[in-house]
Amino acid sequence: MSLWRLVHIGPFIALFVTFVCYCVAVIDSYLWLFPLHTSKFGIWNLIILTIWLALILRNFFFAVLLGPGFVPLEWTPDDKDDEKYLQYCFICKGYKPPRAHHCRACKRCVMKMDHHCPWINTCCGHQNHTNFVLFLFFAPVGCIHALIVCIFTLLYQLLWRAEMYQYAVAPVHFGVNAFFLNIIACGLAFGTIVAVGVLFAQQLKIIITNKTGIEQWIIDKAEERTGQGAPPFTYPYDLGYKKNLSQIINWNCRPQGSGYSWPVVEGCTNLTLSIEQLEQKREKRKRTVLFLVKESYSGWWCPCTKGLCTCIRIPISDEPRIRLEVGDKIEVTRGSHYWLYGNKVLSETESNEGKRVRGWFPRRCVLRLSPPRSMPNDTDENTKKKD
Ligand SMILES: [Zn+2]
Ligand SMILES: [Zn+2]
Repeated sequence: MSLWRLVHIGPFIALFVTFVCYCVAVIDSYLWLFPLHTSKFGIWNLIILTIWLALILRNFFFAVLLGPGFVPLEWTPDDKDDEKYLQYCFICKGYKPPRAHHCRACKRCVMKMDHHCPWINTCCGHQNHTNFVLFLFFAPVGCIHALIVCIFTLLYQLLWRAEMYQYAVAPVHFGVNAFFLNIIACGLAFGTIVAVGVLFAQQLKIIITNKTGIEQWIIDKAEERTGQGAPPFTYPYDLGYKKNLSQIINWNCRPQGSGYSWPVVEGCTNLTLSIEQLEQKREKRKRTVLFLVKESYSGWWCPCTKGLCTCIRIPISDEPRIRLEVGDKIEVTRGSHYWLYGNKVLSETESNEGKRVRGWFPRRCVLRLSPPRSMPNDTDENTKKKD
């Protein structure tokens, strides 16, 4: 049930910050900045503050409750022929439509997945993209308004105490509690403006170019492949900034597209991106190196028994760490000097059940078995991206 998504630390913090900023701004406006009975401007200030709150909450709840749009389990395309061009998800036991990816946190394949957002406790994807972006826009706007109210209230109080400013009416006593509450609200509002403002700018770029973060990474890889002699790759969904924008921001407040297919540029089809992804996976498999585990590893993120350098140089990634037992075999796809990333070789039964164990582990625990065509590079660059 999607309502359960709200019962999580991320949505709780987002709502807490919103309410603190709104309540402090309203109390400031009512008691100290624009006492209602003296100023019509004060009433408008309260109305506008409340409109921001309503817009923030509307888009926040829609983004959470609507969800990103999950691909049905065991999904197959209408045209059986398309199956060979699509990626298969062993966890959802179905094909991934173009632009869909499997989210580890949601444990489902997500339509046009951008990223998993802890603040809404679900993914930002096809279905909730519009509401998510509008939430990212209105949250800083509302916070700018609240911050101005709080700063002016503090400023007026300082001036009033210094007898440099006279209120038209006797103000309610502005005590120490009110002072600290205002300082806290200012801090929360400022933090939200900066942090959410940066996220909004990133999302704006994603919408204008019609390339999610994951798709940008696929394009970078495709360009790398072209540089190595592969045929040039045309990204199919970038229709120009106006059309791209209207797919997400429109009067219906609903994203265009079915979640399975989108309009594409000339010379491409909806399968173009999936075909490129399959090619990239095929090449990656060629680079895979087999390792044998010679030392067990508990799966701890900071394994102090595996040496100081292993502890210090942990991969900067939220990808999982995997438990190792002596004798296990691992197919490694990338790594750094102290850590490797790969899939555990499972028994046939486990593979048939769709089980997959994939993640990071210390390099010193394993011994290379197969000679590599090209070894995983010793760069931290490899720790950044997902498969
Ligand atoms: Zn899946
Ligand atoms: Zn997710």
